[in-house]
Amino acid sequence: MSAPDPSRATAPVRTPSSGAAAQQPVDFIRQKVLDDNRSGRHGGRVMTRFPPEPNGYPHIGHAKSICLNFGLAAEFGGVCNLRFDDTNPLTEDMEYVAAIKEAVRWLGFDWAEREYYASDYFEQLYAWAEQLILQGDAYVCFLSEDAFRERRGTVQGPGSASPYRDVPPEENLALLRRMKAGDYDDGHCVLRAKIDMASPNMKMRDPPMYRIKKASHYRRGDAWCIYPMYDYAHGLSDAIEGVTHSLCTLEFENNRELYDWYVNKVGFERPPEQTEFARLNVTHVIVSKRYLRRLVEEGRVDGWDDPRMPTLAGLRRRGVPPEAIRAFVERVGVARTNSMVEYSLLEHSVRDTLHTLAPRRLVVEQPLLVQIEGNSGPRTLDAPDFPAELNQPGSRALAVSDALYIEASDYDADPPKGWKRLAPGRVARLRHAGLVRCLGEITDEQGKLTAIRCERVEDGPEAKGAGTLHWVDAATAIDVELRLYDQLFAVEQPGVERDLLEDLQPDSKRVVVGKAEASLAAPAAGARFQFERLGFFAVDPDSAPGRPVFNRIVALKDGFVKAAPKAARPEPAKPSPAPAAPVAPEPPAVVAAMEALGVSASVARVLVAQPARRAWVEAAVAAGAGAAEAANLAVGELGRVPAERLPISPAEAAEGLQAVAEGRLPRGLLRQAIVEISEQHANGVEGPGLGATLARLGAEAAAAPSLQEAVEAVLAAHPAEAARLAAGDDKLVGFFLGQLKRQTGGKADASEARRLLTAPRPA
Ligand code: ATP
Ligand code: MG
Repeated sequence: MSAPDPSRATAPVRTPSSGAAAQQPVDFIRQKVLDDNRSGRHGGRVMTRFPPEPNGYPHIGHAKSICLNFGLAAEFGGVCNLRFDDTNPLTEDMEYVAAIKEAVRWLGFDWAEREYYASDYFEQLYAWAEQLILQGDAYVCFLSEDAFRERRGTVQGPGSASPYRDVPPEENLALLRRMKAGDYDDGHCVLRAKIDMASPNMKMRDPPMYRIKKASHYRRGDAWCIYPMYDYAHGLSDAIEGVTHSLCTLEFENNRELYDWYVNKVGFERPPEQTEFARLNVTHVIVSKRYLRRLVEEGRVDGWDDPRMPTLAGLRRRGVPPEAIRAFVERVGVARTNSMVEYSLLEHSVRDTLHTLAPRRLVVEQPLLVQIEGNSGPRTLDAPDFPAELNQPGSRALAVSDALYIEASDYDADPPKGWKRLAPGRVARLRHAGLVRCLGEITDEQGKLTAIRCERVEDGPEAKGAGTLHWVDAATAIDVELRLYDQLFAVEQPGVERDLLEDLQPDSKRVVVGKAEASLAAPAAGARFQFERLGFFAVDPDSAPGRPVFNRIVALKDGFVKAAPKAARPEPAKPSPAPAAPVAPEPPAVVAAMEALGVSASVARVLVAQPARRAWVEAAVAAGAGAAEAANLAVGELGRVPAERLPISPAEAAEGLQAVAEGRLPRGLLRQAIVEISEQHANGVEGPGLGATLARLGAEAAAAPSLQEAVEAVLAAHPAEAARLAAGDDKLVGFFLGQLKRQTGGKADASEARRLLTAPRPA
C-alpha cells in the first residue's frame, strides 16, 4: 500500500481539550466519564486504550472503536494507548501491527510513545498467576476438552467441580511451573481460575487462564509455551497501564464480572472499569477480520487494500477521506443496542465531506464524438474548480474545439418523453461551453453511429429546459482508466443465508477507459475530484505517467438505494443518542431525586439533558415501571432512537419491565424485542408492537433450546469438525451453521451463531 497521506490536504483533526467535552453529544459513556471526573473516582484522570489483536487489517468497525477511544481521551484532556492484544501466537503478524498503526494515524489519531503489547506483560501476568494459585484462586486442570465442556453445565443448570479443583496450592504451583517448562503437550492441561461452578454467568465457572501452545510468538519467539487467555490478559493489561475507562463491545458484557474478578484478586486498588457499547454493523459489509482474511486468501479481492474492502486500507485507497469516516462514526453515535447501519449513511458522509473538498473535472466514461459545424475554432476557457454557490477559489484552463466527446448515453435518436439531452433537433447545454443543437448522425458503411453533428446556438428561449452535459475536448483529451466499484456483496447480511462467497456480487469491479480533460494528465498521488455527473474519484497508486488510474469513491446519487428500494427513505437522519447541546448545568436536585430512586447519576444526567426522554421515563414509572429500569431502558437500549420518537410506549415498557421484575420474562428477551422494534423503526417499518413481538419471541424461545446450547450440541455431535474449527479452519463455520439451521428449524440467528461458533473456546 503506497498511497500517500491524503489527509495532508484536508481539514485538521479537531482535538479539543477538556473544556470542549460539553460540545459533544452526551452519550452514556461520555456521561460516565463526566461523572467519574466529578466524583474523583480515577483522580480526574482519563486514560483509554485501543486494543486490537494483530490478526488482520482493521476495518470500518474498528474505526468506531478508534474514534471513540482516542476521541474521548482527547475531549477530556486524557490519553489513549495503542495496545496490541497479542496473546495468540498462531494468528498474529507484524504486517498487521504495521497496518493497524498506519490506519490509526490515517484516521488522524496519535498514541505518541504509548505503543504497548500485551506480550510485553507476559512475565508480570505469569507472576500474578502464581500469586493466584498461592491465594487458592487458581488450579491446574487435566480434564479433557470434552469433559471440561460437559462439566461446565448449561445456561439453565450449574456445572460440576473438576476433580483437580481442590489440589493444594503448593502442588498446583509445581504443576504450573511444569506447564511453563514445556513438560506437557498442547491441550494436556490448563490453568483455571477457581471461582464458582454454579454461577449463573457461565464465564465465571472456573474459566481457563492459561493454555499450552508450543508455538513461536511473533515478538517473543520461543520464550513461552503457555499463553494467557483474553480475559485474564486484557483487564490486567489495562490495569498495568493505568487505564481508567476500558471500552469494549457488547459481546463482552458477560466477561465484565470476570474482568473485575481478576483485577481485584491481583490487588489493584483503583482498577479500570469496563463499559460496553454496541458494535458497528453496516449493511452489505462484513466487519470481521477472519472473513476479510478469507476473501484475501482465496483471491476474491485484490488484497487487504482492495478499494472494495471495508478495511481502512481499502477505504483509504478507494479515496474515502478520513474525516468522512469520523463524521460517519459520529453520526452513528454510541449506544448499547446492536443494530445495523445502512451503507448509504456511510456514502452520505463521504459525499458530504467531498462536496467541498473535491475540485470538479470533466471526464467521459463512454465517449460519443460530436462534430460541431460552422467552424468556431479552438479556444481556451477558464473553468472554475467549484460551483459558484460554494464560493471557493480555484480554476483551470479547458480547451474547446469543434470535435468533442460527450457521454454516449446523453444522445438518443428516438428519445423518451421529457428528454432534456441531445437528440436530432434538440438543444442541450455543454458545461462551461455554451449551447449546441443536434443536426443529425454520422454513420459508417454498416450504418453504425460514429458521431453526431451539432451546431452552436445562442442562449435564448430555445435553451429553456435544456439539460447540461459533461464533455471533453477531443483534440486534447487523454485516456484514463476508471475503476468503477459496486458493493462487494449483493445482500444486506452477507454469509447469513449461505456461505459468504456465494453472496459476492459478480461485477463489483468494472474497468473502463474513458476520456478526460487534459488537466488530469498528471494528478497528485491520492488527489480526489468530482467528475461532473459521474461521481467522486481518487487517483489510484497504480497510475503511470500520462495514464492515470482513478477509483470511483462514490457515485453522485444514491444509485445503490435506488436499485434496492426500501420503504420511504428520507435523507439519513443523525441517529445520535442525544442532542448536541451541552449538558445543562442541571438542577442538582433533579439528579439527586433520580439517584434516590436508584437511577445512576450518569443516566440521570442524560435524562436531565433530554426532557422528552425524561418525560417518557416518568410516564413509564407512573405506569408501574421501576425508575432505574425504565431509565436504563430509555438511555440504554433505546439510546439510539431520537427521544421524541421512541417506538415503544411508556405503558408497554412498564408492562415488560414488570414482567422482568417478577421473573415472568427473561431480560434478554425484552432486550431482543426492543432491539428488533428499534431496528424496524430505524428502517421506517411500523412493527407489531412490544406485546406481539415478545409473544412471538417467547414462543420461539420456548420451542427452541438456547442458541448457546444448540451450538454446544452441534459441536459435541461432530467432534472432528469441531476440532478443526477450533484450530481456526473457517470453512467449517458454514458446515456448523448448516447443522444449526437444521437443528433449530432455521430459527437460529446466524450472525450470533457465527459469533458463538468462532468465539475462543476453552483449552
Ligand atoms: P473481528 O471480529 O473483526 O476480529 P475483534 O473484535 O476480534 O474484531 P479486535 O482486534 O479484538 O477485533 O478489536 C479491537 C477493538 O475494536 C476491540 O475493542 C473491539 O471491541 C473493537 N471492535 C471490533 N469490531 C468492532 C465493531 N464492528 N464495532 C465497534 N468496535 C469494534
Ligand atoms: Mg478480538
